[in-house]
Amino acid sequence: MRAIAVTPASKTVGIIDHAEPEITSPTQVKLRMIEAGVCGTDREICAFEYGTPPRGSQHLIIGHESLGEVVEVGTQVTRFTTGDLVVPMVRRPCPHEHCMACRAGRQDFCFTGDFTERGIKEQHGFMAQLIVDDEQFMNLVPGELRDFAVLVEPLTIAEKGLAQVWEIQQRLPWSCPIVPSNAQAHCHNAVVLGAGPVGLLGAMALVHAGFDTWVYAREPLPNPKSALLESIGAKYLSAEDTTLEDLAGSIGNVDLVYEATGASRLAFDMMKHLGTNGIFIFTGVPGRKAPVEIDTDLIMRNLVLKNQVVFGTVNAGREAFEASIRDLGEFSKSWPEAMRSMITGRFPIEAHRELLLGKSTGIKNVIKLN
Ligand code: BGC
Repeated sequence: MRAIAVTPASKTVGIIDHAEPEITSPTQVKLRMIEAGVCGTDREICAFEYGTPPRGSQHLIIGHESLGEVVEVGTQVTRFTTGDLVVPMVRRPCPHEHCMACRAGRQDFCFTGDFTERGIKEQHGFMAQLIVDDEQFMNLVPGELRDFAVLVEPLTIAEKGLAQVWEIQQRLPWSCPIVPSNAQAHCHNAVVLGAGPVGLLGAMALVHAGFDTWVYAREPLPNPKSALLESIGAKYLSAEDTTLEDLAGSIGNVDLVYEATGASRLAFDMMKHLGTNGIFIFTGVPGRKAPVEIDTDLIMRNLVLKNQVVFGTVNAGREAFEASIRDLGEFSKSWPEAMRSMITGRFPIEAHRELLLGKSTGIKNVIKLN
């Protein structure tokens, strides 16, 4: 079968001919891969800044945002049947008995660091024509979501982040008064830093949850992302003509910041404007650049005097995948146009070089695998 792989030793990226995976245990499922999304992590792996091939292999098949269709099931598979649409999860548990997280099926919180990730760390990924995995790592997607399901995985980042927000904020009276026509967070403001796929999907999740949502990003107005955000009821402000001070000034209390740029300087500058009882979510993974100066006294004073919480979040467990599938269904009903414009294009496998190594363009580029 054909697959897209990187070979770190020779620094090559390309289409390889790979043995077809076979079902080897009764709980495994075989998928014919329909498509895979290209994300920043894939591009970093293709720049050899990240990513590790499986033990004993020179190459790593990449891809972790995907959609497949079941073509074969093991004899003890209970949740899937041929023809079902599936989005597989990314991380697989570490082998250690003492890792409470992995033993509880929460490898997204693995303690040991010995987890693996399909398409990223020591396990082949999903930019292949066929894959096999255990059914416990797969999520059923309703047929009507076929066109958008490749966005399930990137949306899980926001879903896991928001689930944690609700849990953490339970420590104080943060719930908004119940207004039947309004969503849960209708009395809160949120700022999203960045308007890439993670930022845009995060903004959708925040608007959907009821937050008055402001997205702060580089590109000047107007642009396709600002138009998309306006169409879903979020506000876009450009760093070209708006400072973070102006942003914070127009919002009032900044209840939540969802960082989706990986730009640490901007994030820590924004942290100074986090409001009383505010919560700040980091999702980006910055490259290691030179240290920058930050006003630690101001940040620490605010954290204490304003009861703030800052947390980072990575990867996602089953609940976040299920929430993501549910929410994508709702987004596609409420905002069909915006959802369509999230996917810039679907390209044949031969276009992989431009998509993975060329200049990053559009919103979400998708590679067709079969
Ligand atoms: C993936 C996560 C993964 C993380 C770190 C992200 O791009 O979406 O599943 O845990 O990279 O490797």
